[in-house]
Amino acid sequence: MAREENDTPTPQADAEPSSPPDRRKLLGLLGGGAALAAVASLGGCKTTSPRAEGAQTRRWGMVIDLKRCIACKACTIACKNENKTPPGVAYGVFLEEEAGTFPHVRRTAFFRPCMQCEKSSCSKVCPTGATYHRADGIVAVDYKRCIGCRYCIAACPYGARSFDYGHDYIADAKNGYNLIPSSEYGAAYGTRAKGKSPSGNVRKCTFCLHLQDENGDYREPTACARTCMGKAIHFGDLKNPEATCLVHGEKMQALLAKRSPYRLKEELGNEPAVYYLPA
Ligand code: SF4
Ligand code: SF4
Ligand code: SF4
Repeated sequence: MAREENDTPTPQADAEPSSPPDRRKLLGLLGGGAALAAVASLGGCKTTSPRAEGAQTRRWGMVIDLKRCIACKACTIACKNENKTPPGVAYGVFLEEEAGTFPHVRRTAFFRPCMQCEKSSCSKVCPTGATYHRADGIVAVDYKRCIGCRYCIAACPYGARSFDYGHDYIADAKNGYNLIPSSEYGAAYGTRAKGKSPSGNVRKCTFCLHLQDENGDYREPTACARTCMGKAIHFGDLKNPEATCLVHGEKMQALLAKRSPYRLKEELGNEPAVYYLPA
């Protein structure tokens, strides 16, 4: 469970609520419940109040039109390419399910990014405050505080989190692919190395945070939305009634008013920022 301290930069470190105590060392010395109780006593579980990151005036969200989706899965490839996620780590995935027996069969297929839940199950269980809410609604992970306990993976009802075991597609550190630094979180996490974040951390989709500018607006839309050739993934601000999809130009609120939008597992009360329009 214990991993080496890393020296990677904290995303917008000036907004950090408090300096992280030696929680990783603590977890290494203690076991399971005792460690987590001790971590909590050090002031963990402060995760539901948003940090001063991102624009307060925005609530970034998605409207995914299942009628327009042609199941090409370009969204997942674009996501992998943009975020350079390693084996076993998936941010945006395409889920397919067949139900019933012939001839009464039904197929469901849809793209699933992180829902950026307003009341996120992941942040509630995080003992160190590594998982936190930004002012613009995006749920992020502070790798410097994450101890890799994976409570958040168990808690997320959408399966939107993965643990980074440190595996690579190409083992050779000098291979061109491994020399390209990750642009995640807008900070230079640099090239991958053993024992260095984000290896050993839990990872998730953050609506491609690294594509935001210093004002919290997007220099370019999220990779999945801009690659969607069926024009099914709409990405934009859900707070402003006049805001349009950053890719396709439709008003986000108008998209939600047109058909009967729904959110996954609505009954759990997580209040996701990702809406689906029925096929
Ligand atoms: S979908 Fe899961 S990981 Fe994403 S914010 Fe909601 S609970 Fe957290
Ligand atoms: S693994 Fe998840 S719950 Fe544990 S510290 Fe990291 S972000 Fe928080
Ligand atoms: S918003 Fe970015 S990180 Fe999230 S699924 Fe889309 S491409 Fe992947």
